Amino acid sequence: MTTTKEATELLQDLVSFDTTSYKSNLELIEYIKSYLTNCGIGSTLVHDDSGKKANLYATIGRDDVGGIMLSGHTDVVPVSSQRWDTDPFCLTELGGNLYGRGSADMKGFIALALSRVPKILSLELDTPFHLAFSYDEEVGCIGVQRLLDLLENRAIKPRCCIVGEPTSMEVVVGHKGKCSRRVHVHGHACHSGQAPFGVNAVDYAAELIVFIRKLAKEKANNGPFDYEYEVPYTSLHTGTVSGGTALNIVPNYCEFDYEIRHLYEEDPQKLLDKIESYARDYLQVDMRSHYKDTGFDFKDIATYPGLSIDPNSTFVNQVKQLLSNKTHRKVIFGTEGGLFNQRLGIPTLVCGPGSIDQAHKANEYISLEQLQMGGHFLDKLIESQIEG
Ligand SMILES: [Zn+2]
Repeated sequence: MTTTKEATELLQDLVSFDTTSYKSNLELIEYIKSYLTNCGIGSTLVHDDSGKKANLYATIGRDDVGGIMLSGHTDVVPVSSQRWDTDPFCLTELGGNLYGRGSADMKGFIALALSRVPKILSLELDTPFHLAFSYDEEVGCIGVQRLLDLLENRAIKPRCCIVGEPTSMEVVVGHKGKCSRRVHVHGHACHSGQAPFGVNAVDYAAELIVFIRKLAKEKANNGPFDYEYEVPYTSLHTGTVSGGTALNIVPNYCEFDYEIRHLYEEDPQKLLDKIESYARDYLQVDMRSHYKDTGFDFKDIATYPGLSIDPNSTFVNQVKQLLSNKTHRKVIFGTEGGLFNQRLGIPTLVCGPGSIDQAHKANEYISLEQLQMGGHFLDKLIESQIEG
């Protein structure tokens, strides 16, 4: 019987590696790799271009049949500008909670999965388990793409996938997709006393931001709608703007970032195209009637698809049978799940210990109770031998 103690000890080690997304995760990956090696399991590492980050993929059990994939990301969000009461990279137990960056999102799940490896091996299961641990999830599900490239070319793929993001051990059957873009606006500077002779980049940025806002209102009014979401329609918003140097200079440059959080059923490309064509066919034409070298540039920041799995599917029902809470819901945050489903066709749901309410904040924690519930779930999953 695997205890919470083993998972807690593993979590302590995992939290001690500062794997904030912009840093290397290799020390943590090497730690997991050597843990698996000690269990007699080989790991495949898929690095990024710099060689400083890697995904880890490992199969426990047979490699000639599909099996269940347990997916998690190893990176965490920054602690800078947050006021922590404990050292965020030293797991601290207080009042039944384990505090530390990544404890809920989502090293707790990774620790649980690793703690169950000896059990999976000892049972000599017909259904193998796969571990898929990624980097750069928190910055837009970027790292896992390379792992998908690898799996895409394999003849035998996992039959189903559980993404262990913190859902308080409730089954999540859907989340929205996201597209985010940076817009560069190039104007023409001059003395503000001659404002009409310049091309004001901030003004044109503002016009496009207002257009995006109008699209957002249109979506809110006309849908499509999915009332299982807190915000039941596709939303758009501008998050950051910067431009201009001084009030007495007509600004020649402005940039802003906007994002679309779209329903699974909605194609975000249509909205991206609308925004781009308003900029190019209307605003830019006006700008270039004054100066030819002015206009707009668009750059993708991050994109991932929405997730949707039929709540009545066999896989969802099988998983629910293993949980005390047999309900399901849709969530406001994104995961790598949509990519597993869209690129590999693997039925995927999200279910993991801890609450998203504690994620990304100062004093992030996972309760020992949640860790225990997550462990019980994995034990039942291993024993049940479901195949999706
Ligand atoms: Zn996460």
